Amino acid sequence: MSDVVSPPKAADKIRCDACPVLCYIREGHAGACDRYANYGGKLTRLDPHILLNRTLSQGGSVVPFVGDKEWDGKILLGPDTFVTAIGAGTTYPDYKPAPFIVSADVDGVDTVTVVTEGIFSYCGVKVKIDTDRHLGRECAVVRHAGEPVGHVTTAEYGSQMLAIGGVSHLTGGTKNEGRVTCETLLELCNARPVELEIEGGATLVVQAGQPPIVNGVREERMRVGCGSATIGMFAKQWFGKVDDVVVVDDHITGVLSEHQAGKFLGVKDTGIKIKGRRSTPGRYFKVADPGTGWGGTNISDPLAILGPFDKAEAWPGLRVLMVSTTGEHYGYFELDEALKPVARALPAMLAESVERIKENCEPALASVLFMAGAGGSLRAGVTENPVRLTRSVKEAFTRVTCGGAPVYVWPGGGITFMVDVTRLPDNAFGYVPTPALVAPIEFTLKLSDYAALGGHMSEVRPLSSLIDDGHREVAPRPDNPWPLGFPAWRNGG
Ligand code: SF4
Repeated sequence: MSDVVSPPKAADKIRCDACPVLCYIREGHAGACDRYANYGGKLTRLDPHILLNRTLSQGGSVVPFVGDKEWDGKILLGPDTFVTAIGAGTTYPDYKPAPFIVSADVDGVDTVTVVTEGIFSYCGVKVKIDTDRHLGRECAVVRHAGEPVGHVTTAEYGSQMLAIGGVSHLTGGTKNEGRVTCETLLELCNARPVELEIEGGATLVVQAGQPPIVNGVREERMRVGCGSATIGMFAKQWFGKVDDVVVVDDHITGVLSEHQAGKFLGVKDTGIKIKGRRSTPGRYFKVADPGTGWGGTNISDPLAILGPFDKAEAWPGLRVLMVSTTGEHYGYFELDEALKPVARALPAMLAESVERIKENCEPALASVLFMAGAGGSLRAGVTENPVRLTRSVKEAFTRVTCGGAPVYVWPGGGITFMVDVTRLPDNAFGYVPTPALVAPIEFTLKLSDYAALGGHMSEVRPLSSLIDDGHREVAPRPDNPWPLGFPAWRNGG
């Protein structure tokens, strides 16, 4: 917990001015967002301010709040401590300097890190769901608790993308839509499970870093590739063991005997007929409707996509393997005297190839990337000349991090960034009931560059001055780059 000084008072209440809601908070109570409280007449940030300390052993070992024990001076080591914005608080309106502007000596270079918990009305998450199953048509509305909170976007390679949140849902609909959207974003960003319903499609449980649950079934694996790619990958293993293979896929169904991979190996024509739109040889689109059956189609019987075999080319006893892109569904057939496929037990030598498809499928996960625009007034908390901050970020003189995690900054105007929510410390996100999401953001740059871009130099304080504030040190995630490592600085760049 940290104290925030000099709030205006009304009777026994104090006013929080950390966001536009401007709550009046009674002694012993918290404000509407549960982030600030009135303790003994002092406005107090309830969560600890998080510092990353890379001298702590990996695995997230935590030391108590500074206020709980005698200070051991460790924080003074500068380059091993990074001040995140988690729990740092927010200043509002934005012309006030950010809550912490902290200087440190990093390998002989004077640096400054400006941290604030940004309040983002323009934000959302992009969700990637590894599954072959059809979740809903593109643009279908995604709901949580009955409210529209996003929509289905494109299908990517083995994954379905959802866009959740955004300013239209937060501010452009009913009050309840905004509230539910904010709640959905908060849960997703803090890597908690959220149930989503897609209009005309599936019901999902999505949690960052966990397998998605589609219509009550936990997804195990994402596909090895599209039907055509699967033919390419496994053609050699099938050659000589079976006469034809069909890899059933909602997007591109592959047929070994017609595919370039089969032709290259010398697989002969089998007279097979696929009910779909032929693209290039051995590649078929729209063999069925999308669904949750074989290869993301709606079929449960693979023979439904076959027409009659060509009598001039097929022969009795012809062997056909039909398999889905995850190996989850498969069937083996031989043609009878009338050239009709008859189901037979899968021979052991083909079972191996089906197992190989499964083995090559990666575990299915749901991934959540928070995306927000920090290009607006938030910049004024960093500098009196906001556009210079944007330019500095674009020119890579200023590093942007989110709770110490690396971000991707979009090209073009503003500072629009994305971050994988699983790379932040736990519970790094909050909300305010405007409604908007609260997310940590840090800007780190050379002190001289900070002065040059019009930074709030009078607010710069040394790292050692944080001793008296309530904060908690945690180990950084081992797979995140250390936010203070910036080779160009050491080279005078
Ligand atoms: S919602 Fe939270 S941040 Fe906003 S004024 Fe109330 S207590 Fe302060």
